Amino acid sequence: MTTIYNFSAGPAMLPHEVLLTAQNELLNYQNSGMSVMELSHRSSLFDDIITDAEKLLRELMAIPDNYRVLFLQGGASLQFTMVPLNLAAGRTAYYINSGSWAKKAIAEAHKISSVTPVVAASSEEQRFTTIPSCPADTLAQDAAYLHITTNNTIEGTAFQTLPETGGIPLVADMSSNILSNDYDVRDFGLIYAGAQKNIGPAGLTVVIVREDLLQKNDTLPAMLNYTVQAENRSLYNTPPTYSIYIAKLVFEWLKEKGGVQAITEANRRKAGLLYDYIDQSDFFTSPVNKADRSLTNIPFIAPTAELDQLFVKEAAQHGLVNLKGHRSVGGMRASLYNAMPLAGVEALVAFMTDFEHTH
Ligand code: PLP
Repeated sequence: MTTIYNFSAGPAMLPHEVLLTAQNELLNYQNSGMSVMELSHRSSLFDDIITDAEKLLRELMAIPDNYRVLFLQGGASLQFTMVPLNLAAGRTAYYINSGSWAKKAIAEAHKISSVTPVVAASSEEQRFTTIPSCPADTLAQDAAYLHITTNNTIEGTAFQTLPETGGIPLVADMSSNILSNDYDVRDFGLIYAGAQKNIGPAGLTVVIVREDLLQKNDTLPAMLNYTVQAENRSLYNTPPTYSIYIAKLVFEWLKEKGGVQAITEANRRKAGLLYDYIDQSDFFTSPVNKADRSLTNIPFIAPTAELDQLFVKEAAQHGLVNLKGHRSVGGMRASLYNAMPLAGVEALVAFMTDFEHTH
């Protein structure tokens, strides 16, 4: 059988070793005679899983003690609502509009009547092919936060340096490059990420929030209240137990791989291989500003839309699947998250070389 390399932007491929462990433990977790899916979220077996998952994530990201880690549901999209609801009631909140997901975050913030979202910088006029600059002296210092999308999954751009905020908490949607880029958590007031790219299966959302930003507010619905979730160690209701278990396995795998610094280096090598090929090619081009390129989501185009279509189809026949670009931008997109091996990128570049010669 042809080896399948899955270049999906999410849900994305998981490390093979993780899937094998999950398969071995599927029916009988630690001699309990039960699957993790069947364990009570109040059992000591599950308590060990969620405790270990948090411990490992803290270790991998060097999360300081004054930050809380929450395992929630609702996807990164629910954070578009929870962040302003919890952090910005009665206040202004700044947003950098750097891509389609940032735009959605802004739209959701506008729906909360007590919050005034302000777009501090935007690259929408450039069709999000660049990262806009946002000088700190343009930001009023009494604002609740500045929200950024560290990596724009759809457009394939990423912040290479974080914007200076002058002291306003930085809030980051890190869905598509959490754990694949070596960030210092202390630079952020809050980080959130949907799990389905670098953490585990869909259904789990990770939030890392500095304690001083948590406020008691009994008027917020409990499920949308960070303080309630933190006080209950993410066990206010039934959490996505199986997704948390797989996340724990992914964190163990990443630790074994040498941690975030080591995987960032590996990701640079993978992305470098593909970008170097695109840059020397007379056939494929990259639609985004070179200085703003993402390490994890790499869009590219062939000379015509017909050739794009043919490429996606023939690549799939060679085991290189899910290379179609997002419907809003077209072309192709290769997502190279942590679980994608170098061999997958080598196979892609070899196929691109053949395709270029044939067409
Ligand atoms: N933010 C970013 C940067 C994303 O890439 C995605 C999904 O791909 C989302 C938000 C939405 O995530 P979810 O589907 O978990 O709500």
